[in-house]
Amino acid sequence: MKTSVVDPSRAACRVLDALKELHPDAHCELEHANAFELLCATVLSAQTTDVAVNKLTPGLFARYSSAASLANADAMRDVEPLISTIGMFRQKSKNLVGLAKLLVEKYGGEVPRTLKELVELPGVGRKTANVVLGVAFGAPEGVVVDTHVQRITQRLGLTTETDPEAIERALCTLLPRERWAETSHIFIFHGRRICGAVKPNCEGCGVKDVCPSAFHAEKVGRKPPRQRR
Ligand code: SF4
Repeated sequence: MKTSVVDPSRAACRVLDALKELHPDAHCELEHANAFELLCATVLSAQTTDVAVNKLTPGLFARYSSAASLANADAMRDVEPLISTIGMFRQKSKNLVGLAKLLVEKYGGEVPRTLKELVELPGVGRKTANVVLGVAFGAPEGVVVDTHVQRITQRLGLTTETDPEAIERALCTLLPRERWAETSHIFIFHGRRICGAVKPNCEGCGVKDVCPSAFHAEKVGRKPPRQRR
């Protein structure tokens, strides 16, 4: 009897292709005009929706259009009132002014293009850095793994890992580098539109025939309930 061995990378690329067909408009939804604005918007988006960030960034960027101008701002007096509608605005104000100062001091006001340099900026972790590298420069050094990417990767059976960094390593191994940036956008759109955490719409999903979690996905890729103390 003939057995066929499925190459995991090819299978992952085929699933990604199918999801891309479902979501051809998948993109970074943080509005920005340049790398500096994207960096600020991504820092602001931690634990907050893109919609909430997009409401306040026009006012913020009208006042501070460059690292040089933001570096001279006072976090509490000048920046806090412009971003007070989102969570953790006090810490985020400090981070924005802090990162602007570092951009001016070390990079001539420009946004650096490596993960190592980006994660040294206040408020910038691996995820934020890879959003900027992927979207602004087309050169990500990893795959952005947020809660949607985490859940969908597990539901599709692309990895059994549950830790975001381990999921990222698995995706980077499976997918060619030139697909890393679009992967997170496509998975995020799929997570928002079809494969929701609570009620995934498996019936209406274009990859249900190859998804190992189809029609029993509710408990796959969900965050564990908080333990009562
Ligand atoms: S079949 Fe269901 S669980 Fe699988 S990706 Fe589609 S919506 Fe998600």
